[in-house]
Amino acid sequence: MIQFMDSHIHLQDYNANNTTEIIQAAEACGVDKFIAVSSTEDQWADVLKLAQTYPNKIIPALGIHPWYIGKMRKGWEKRLEGILLQNHHVLVGECGLDRIKNPELAPQEDIFRIQLELARKYRRSLLIHAVKAAEWLEDFWKILPECSVFHAFGGRIDMLKKLLNHGGYAAFGFSIFKNRDAQQILRYIPADRILFETDAPYMAPNKGQQNLPQYLPEIAAKIATIRGEDLETLAAQVYQNSLKIAGLIK
Ligand SMILES: [Zn+2]
Repeated sequence: MIQFMDSHIHLQDYNANNTTEIIQAAEACGVDKFIAVSSTEDQWADVLKLAQTYPNKIIPALGIHPWYIGKMRKGWEKRLEGILLQNHHVLVGECGLDRIKNPELAPQEDIFRIQLELARKYRRSLLIHAVKAAEWLEDFWKILPECSVFHAFGGRIDMLKKLLNHGGYAAFGFSIFKNRDAQQILRYIPADRILFETDAPYMAPNKGQQNLPQYLPEIAAKIATIRGEDLETLAAQVYQNSLKIAGLIK
């Protein structure tokens, strides 16, 4: 069976009673690893616990999402640094900049910069949410951590070129198929910079539906078709990329 990693999932946002079932259903479809991201400090403990329950299967990522910067408690950056120091497998994210949700750059920028610098300092992958933020990112391209992932990539081809020039990865979920430049973007990006993700339970293929990690192979198959590439070959490369981002291989 083809192996997949879901490189961006909000597992803690499902009813906790269903987690085992959701993971097993995904595994039955070849999705055997998951990067579990968080959006607020309140979710950090849940994500760490999931990773403990499923070692080597769930890789935790701790961050503050730009939508929730109003909810932070004082000292969050020290607490995040403390956890990174003690847990060498913990990644940073999801974090970033979102111009649609909040047209003001500050304080999003400060919160993002702190997380970016922590990822650099402790050599962890950074999982970035960037929406209509191409201009705002100008200050950040040169200081991106070695492994930086632009989750749910939805930018234009110019943005993709910048990201590639600075060593970044782009993760694609169902939202890419709604992008008017999808064909151009998916054909341009080299296979060694692609990741697959569901962003589940969000970003479902159809409105009103709940997304599930078991749908990931569908995303991969569609992307392979658009690229005119064999699914097995593409998936094998993307799995290697995912292992690197997850910190499981060098
Ligand atoms: Zn997300």
